[in-house]
Amino acid sequence: MAETTLAAVKVAPGQTEIREFPLPDVPEDGALLKVEVAGICGSDVKMYGKPLPGNSVIMGHENVGYIAKAGRKFLERKGVAEGDLVFLEHYLPCMKCEWCHLGEYRHCEATDWHHNPAAIRYGYTSADAPPYLWGGFGRYLYLPWNAVLHKVPDGVTAELAGIGTPLANGIQWSLLDAGIGYGHKVLIQGPGQQGLAQVVAAKQAGADLVIVTGTSKDAKRLEVAKALGADYAIDVQQDDPLERVMEITSRKGVDFSIDCTAGAGTKALHLGVEALKRKAGVLVVQGNELPTFPDFPMERITLKYITIKSARGHSYRACELAMQQLGSHRFPLELATTHRFGLDDVDFAIKSVGGKGAQDVIHVSVMPWRESSAN
Ligand SMILES: [Zn+2]
Ligand SMILES: [Zn+2]
Repeated sequence: MAETTLAAVKVAPGQTEIREFPLPDVPEDGALLKVEVAGICGSDVKMYGKPLPGNSVIMGHENVGYIAKAGRKFLERKGVAEGDLVFLEHYLPCMKCEWCHLGEYRHCEATDWHHNPAAIRYGYTSADAPPYLWGGFGRYLYLPWNAVLHKVPDGVTAELAGIGTPLANGIQWSLLDAGIGYGHKVLIQGPGQQGLAQVVAAKQAGADLVIVTGTSKDAKRLEVAKALGADYAIDVQQDDPLERVMEITSRKGVDFSIDCTAGAGTKALHLGVEALKRKAGVLVVQGNELPTFPDFPMERITLKYITIKSARGHSYRACELAMQQLGSHRFPLELATTHRFGLDDVDFAIKSVGGKGAQDVIHVSVMPWRESSAN
């Protein structure tokens, strides 16, 4: 193996450079992952514009790759072999707390950078911290003893496995957190990779009716939503979405409303509240875009006896179910893997996910070994 490796490094808000890093020695309980695919999600777009947690950071938290080199203890503990293709969770948890024992690494303090400045998490931790390789926008990633791996099923390509993170989130939020199941009616707002993953999870869980909303520029994504099993797609710029939902549901409303919009402000929550059935609907929200909410419809929420659930990553189980789902090939999720970029194009790739680059983007794969400027 070479002595050094390359990574695309965020060096300032909205600025990336290719840098060389030493390849670390692999201890008995650690390993190196040869990164095949690092997905980009909406949170990367937000993080990219923010100040750095140190001097530099290798972003990329949705990672799939091959175990390139591993210590004996690592292989024993993880039940993997060198050469295995694995999906890597971005959490690096303590493995001691109650959350960790439940497989809910997303809640572990050791990897919660919102709360703990010393937390380690792939794609967020500063590249100043040895052994530096903490992000997927690089050819190798360092896997310490507490890395959480899921084997990619045979017959699933690395690129398809790159959908693992949004799909695990879909399964977590729709199925495990909201409780969508047999016969339910579901409104999914926003047809990006995250919304589409909710479509798959809701359909697999047995939902009778799935309605997806988007804007006129989402025409392609809405088509993919239908190919993945959505029953109705609504362009909110052409139709009044609440009126359409009421028509479709014979004025009864939906059981669940899931917000997967980006940049829609407070509209998605208001629509969600009104589109829910008369009593006891469930609203899944993502609060990371709006720190405050003017005119929060508290009274409507109480009168309608609505439960609010917060979208927060995924559990171990959701990742396993996501891999199983991909292995089944029941849904044509290949339709969602739309764009591929090499390391040199990471800046453009992130901007494309933010709507300021390539067209009709759904899921973007950074492939660090790929020649750049190809697509
Ligand atoms: Zn993400
Ligand atoms: Zn823990």
